[in-house]
Amino acid sequence: MWPWIIGLIVAAVLLYCVVPNVWIRVLRVGAVWRGPQQPAVALTFDDGPDPKYTGRLLDVLRDAGVNATFFVIGEKALRNPELIERMKREGHEVEVHGYQHVPVPLLSPGAAAGQVERTHHLLSERFGVRTRWYRPPWGLCNLASLFRRGRSSHRLITWTVMVGDWRVMPAQVLLARIMRKIRPGAIIVLHDSDETWGSEPGAPDNVIEMMPDLINAIRSRGYRFVRLCDWWPERR
Ligand SMILES: [Zn+2]
Repeated sequence: MWPWIIGLIVAAVLLYCVVPNVWIRVLRVGAVWRGPQQPAVALTFDDGPDPKYTGRLLDVLRDAGVNATFFVIGEKALRNPELIERMKREGHEVEVHGYQHVPVPLLSPGAAAGQVERTHHLLSERFGVRTRWYRPPWGLCNLASLFRRGRSSHRLITWTVMVGDWRVMPAQVLLARIMRKIRPGAIIVLHDSDETWGSEPGAPDNVIEMMPDLINAIRSRGYRFVRLCDWWPERR
């Protein structure tokens, strides 16, 4: 009897926590992971807004005339409202990464939905931003969030290009790793905070240092930069 029950529990845990991530991350089904096959790429930044890094990153993007998509943490948006206002003012897109940076596979269906809804409502009511995309922390979801169709109906999104920028490495190494993976419709994920579990202190400094060279290198290959809303305009 016991082995049978334990087997059932293990199967349920695998189905709830693991299978959805094989689905979206390995089979690439159920979440958007690239844009249209055009000579354009989307720069996306997770984990901010961060008072130590995000402002400097916004300076670089402004000087280069590039707009990006920021997947933000609700709690940090509350702590750093001026950075969300600046993103809006300078033409960037603000989307949902979660209310806290927590592992969604370990959350109940209600708590997982709450991560999206709370952030969505905060950004909408406090900042007048209407969010449509959800990239869960570490790109990990559970069965409920994979099939969730809530009132705000956020589309799940992962990425095309991820190169481990949460570790400290020379800017030139980071640049070379990204450029090897650039292709039409690439969604590039980088990080503008080092407060997240697993990231090394100071890692975003390398991202910011690399950014002007990355922008030049991508442009010299004939690509332009888009936000997600440029690829997928809101249907009214
Ligand atoms: Zn994250």
